[in-house]
Amino acid sequence: MAAVQTAFDFASVAPGQRDGAGSSPRTDADPGRRLMALGRLLSRQLDMPVSLTLTDNARTMVSLKRRDGIARIRLHHLFAEADTGTQESLSHYLERGDRAAAERLRAFIERHRDRIRPTTYRAPAPRARGHQHDLGAIFEALNDRYFASSLRARVGWSRMGQPPGERTRRRSIKLGSYRMRDALIRIHPALDAAWVPRFFVEYVVYHEMLHHALGVPRVAGRRRAHNREFRAAEARFERYEEALAWERAHLDRLLRA
Ligand SMILES: [Zn+2]
Repeated sequence: MAAVQTAFDFASVAPGQRDGAGSSPRTDADPGRRLMALGRLLSRQLDMPVSLTLTDNARTMVSLKRRDGIARIRLHHLFAEADTGTQESLSHYLERGDRAAAERLRAFIERHRDRIRPTTYRAPAPRARGHQHDLGAIFEALNDRYFASSLRARVGWSRMGQPPGERTRRRSIKLGSYRMRDALIRIHPALDAAWVPRFFVEYVVYHEMLHHALGVPRVAGRRRAHNREFRAAEARFERYEEALAWERAHLDRLLRA
């Protein structure tokens, strides 16, 4: 089976020192629409259907495999927010390995180096194996099933939010969180219990994995994590409705956990 593969390793570019002075990529209108427009542009340029996957992979920021009549493209999420000129350079690079386009891509990546997760992690790895649920195994299964094993992130149980003596009823509970800086997903330890079904833990991990995969687009300076694109992707979780229903039915118990 012949598969043409192009991979451009931008990690070989020497990281320039930037002290937070980097400007964010320009974000026009709805990021979901921009992503769709990018998909259409690439499909037109390559003259074939395109499957687009956004990643947080700093080692191979752009890759293309042609297989079964489909161009399977993986991009660092930075490109989803890139300006039109950069997206055009991207399409020229993917179409014919255009060297001038490759240079423009390098320059773009250098300008936004501060938004690319370093390949060495800053925070220590949290504990993934719980008493009841193994977050590492859950992450791997979800990565395989929904993300073509393309995500590189870490997952672990966060520390208990309140000391044991003060277990009053909470008003709200944050079941999961994602920190882009070190690609870290943390899950609330209240979910590490026998009465919490695995599919619900999976749903919470899946939600945070989507933040990792889609990035957190800024629209008019504000972070818009749960946009239309995000919600559509979230609904692809196989037991989505069931997970929402379970959460509604057990919210009280979660708040007391
Ligand atoms: Zn979220």
